[in-house]
Amino acid sequence: MKCPNCNKGWIAEILWGYPEDVESIKEELEKKEIVLGGCLVTENDPTWECNDCNHRWGYADHNDENKTDSFDYDKGFNIEEVYDQ
Ligand SMILES: [Zn+2]
Repeated sequence: MKCPNCNKGWIAEILWGYPEDVESIKEELEKKEIVLGGCLVTENDPTWECNDCNHRWGYADHNDENKTDSFDYDKGFNIEEVYDQ
């Protein structure tokens, strides 16, 4: 993969949230294969950061767990009540 901005290949994956075990990714952090995005997660977080020009792109999917949640909500929904009118 190359940076869409400067076309260089030194790309880091952005890790969002607090890593559970920083020690285990220490090497990747030092080599800048992973960068920490911080604990504030939004709907529009990028996935990749260029180590050359700091351009960020991609789309980080934080919603893996939420998908299961909303599925449960749907199941608990009373369809008849919703379509009553
Ligand atoms: Zn770049």
